[in-house]
Amino acid sequence: MQITVLAGGVGGARFVRGLLRTPAVADDPGSTVTVVGNTGDDITLVGLRVCPDLDTLLYTLGGGVDEEQGWGRAGDTREVKAELDALGVGPSWFGLGDRDLGTHLARTRWLGQGLSLSEVTDRLARRWGLPERQVRLLPATDTPIETHVVVDDEDGGERALHFQEWWVRHGARLPARRFTVAGLADAAPAPGVLEAIRSADVVLLPPSNPVVSIGIILGVPGVREALRGTRAPVVGVSPLLGGRPVRGHADACLAPLGVEVSAAGVAGLYADFLGGWLVDDADADATFPPRLPVRALDLLMRDEAGAARIAGAALDLAAELSPAVPVGDR
Ligand code: GDP
Ligand code: CA
Repeated sequence: MQITVLAGGVGGARFVRGLLRTPAVADDPGSTVTVVGNTGDDITLVGLRVCPDLDTLLYTLGGGVDEEQGWGRAGDTREVKAELDALGVGPSWFGLGDRDLGTHLARTRWLGQGLSLSEVTDRLARRWGLPERQVRLLPATDTPIETHVVVDDEDGGERALHFQEWWVRHGARLPARRFTVAGLADAAPAPGVLEAIRSADVVLLPPSNPVVSIGIILGVPGVREALRGTRAPVVGVSPLLGGRPVRGHADACLAPLGVEVSAAGVAGLYADFLGGWLVDDADADATFPPRLPVRALDLLMRDEAGAARIAGAALDLAAELSPAVPVGDR
């Protein structure tokens, strides 16, 4: 089975890690999971290109993530960061681990040598053993894009700041007027992205941030059209449980869009291509768009087995929606 997943960082990576444990993937060496990763969070820091969501996917799927934090390398130190702080070279608010810096140094060097982000990501994916785990990781686009957040400034006007500064430094507490994505309108989908959507047996939307993770991937020209046109059922998992994000600030991202902070509100963002929707038991009685197949279950990914259970339910719903999806003991 060919499964394509559009993913942000922590929520996306944990879901995909669970997906790899489902019998549909684990027991079928012919199954492939293509992960299309968000690149809107990307940022250049001390001259290094950092791709937070791709790195979280690499480390999580490769078995090297800091589990507690959800991102960064397990057992990492911050010696370089401490020295940069002592030298007054910022930004001080962004966590850069020493091992993690190895990734950013390699990526920056390879980009400087003329490799595309796809080619760089492919090299990093091999270092983390992703092909052996039946995973292909594609950036949504090779075109550099950056999500910016427009907030009020002190003089009653507005100013834009990089998404990471808003999210990490300010904890998403500055009310967002809107999000803009530099470079997005002219971005091209990375090689393989549209094909992965068009030729998939199933497309899954993990519980990733609907605005600044999945929303950015959907904004890459051609992606949304491919989702509308694919023969594969598109099944999504709500990132909001009882109207609240499990972690992060998805609520602060939905507010400026005027979208209700709920599982139903998020489903509405995908209405033009969504085939089925998984929500938490807490939302079982909510009102969803008419004719949208909705299933309620415990959506908290407490551990890998929990993530596998949710991913299996997503595949089950896909099989219900499409005769082409093999039904089995997922
Ligand atoms: P980020 O790039 O690291 O912010 O990660 P993502 O965009 O992939 O995912 C963030 C979203 O994942 C947030 O809106 C969380 O509410 C959601 N999330 C995190 N853990 C869980 C979980 O266990 N279950 C569900 N349903 N959603 C989760
Ligand atoms: Ca992210």
